[in-house]
Amino acid sequence: MLTVETARTWLSLFIEKLETNEKYLNTLDESIGDGDHGANMLRGANDLKAKLAEGLQAGLSDLFKMAGMSFIQKTGGAAGLLYGQAFLQMSQAMQVGNDLLDSLTSGIEGIQKVGQTELKDKTLVDVWIPVMEDIRNKRLTLEKINEYVISTKDFQAKKGRAAYVSEQLNGHIDPGAASCGYFFEAMLEAGVYDE
Ligand code: ADP
Ligand code: MG
Repeated sequence: MLTVETARTWLSLFIEKLETNEKYLNTLDESIGDGDHGANMLRGANDLKAKLAEGLQAGLSDLFKMAGMSFIQKTGGAAGLLYGQAFLQMSQAMQVGNDLLDSLTSGIEGIQKVGQTELKDKTLVDVWIPVMEDIRNKRLTLEKINEYVISTKDFQAKKGRAAYVSEQLNGHIDPGAASCGYFFEAMLEAGVYDE
């Protein structure tokens, strides 16, 4: 269930995974971008971690607004804007209710508005959309999330820096798809999704 408590755990686990995998995300971005995706994401994560540690009595919508601001202000680059906008729009949906699918729908609208991205453009959208589909059909698992991350190996990038790199055709996982995989792994582990 999506509650203030599970959402807090969700964001905290996401932060932990970004910490643990910073170098791996940088390495993925070295192949098809400029090698900074892990470092970028960690800046936003650290900022959010500090805010969460202050232990302010934030509601569900406030939590994601806080997350959005951290990623927009500290992560920078394409990913900062995309994750930031996603979290801000999730926060807006959470003002109305605590439905996970409604929140994620609002989030992907934010990503696609900012990124002008469709499926198979080799971005985090290639994880976000099929995960939503699996939530809708009550069949989301860690294995499936991993499958969607790996599927980006076969796509040709149409957006962001990777679109200008011929190396991307060489079976590389998209770094943003990988970080998005951590976001949804964290969601499962936090018990936000309870099918
Ligand atoms: P930058 O490209 O500015 O260095 P990052 O390396 O932090 O930013 O993030 C790169 C990731 O951002 C890509 O792997 C991809 O998933 C995502 N991305 C880039 N451009 C777009 C876009 N237009 N729409 C959706 N996602 C995008
Ligand atoms: Mg980069």
